[in-house]
Amino acid sequence: AVSVAQCVNEAIQLLSFDKEAKKVHYDNACDPCIAVAGDYQRLTQVFINLLTNARDASPEGSTIRIDADSLDTNALIRVVDQGEGIPPDIAEHIFEPFFTTKEPGKGTGLGLALVYRIINDLNGDISVKSPVSDNGASGSCFQLQLPLACHIQ
Ligand code: ADP
Ligand code: MG
Repeated sequence: AVSVAQCVNEAIQLLSFDKEAKKVHYDNACDPCIAVAGDYQRLTQVFINLLTNARDASPEGSTIRIDADSLDTNALIRVVDQGEGIPPDIAEHIFEPFFTTKEPGKGTGLGLALVYRIINDLNGDISVKSPVSDNGASGSCFQLQLPLACHIQ
């Protein structure tokens, strides 16, 4: 079992070593009690990839919020940014290997393909909602569902 909040923290820590990167705030609002069946390294990789994308899409100084709650036997995890959003014709391709809208050299197009495979391996599910709200504001929300680690004491 692995703590979602800890993996998110690890990912934030690792990204903060990149001093050249755009400055954004990370708000880790994950319920510390949420643990999922999985391993620390792979789940941390999931958050590194999602947070990197969120940062790339975000305006400087904006906040990326990550939260995790439980719903029945699943953990419900959201990564929400205030970035440029994802048009529908692009959104349908983002989980495909080598799909990228970034300049040559800036993106491999493999980040979300890997996330998708890891989440699938863990019997989870991933979806994206963009824009985040219906009031015309943009932003993206990646939502993960993963089976909770056995939570019966
Ligand atoms: P890469 O980051 O190397 O381009 P990814 O597989 O991580 O590859 O992402 C694929 C594409 O999905 C990105 O190029 C971008 O167009 C889009 N995307 C992913 N996350 C976001 C986000 N949070 N906001 C806007 N676009 C995104
Ligand atoms: Mg990426």
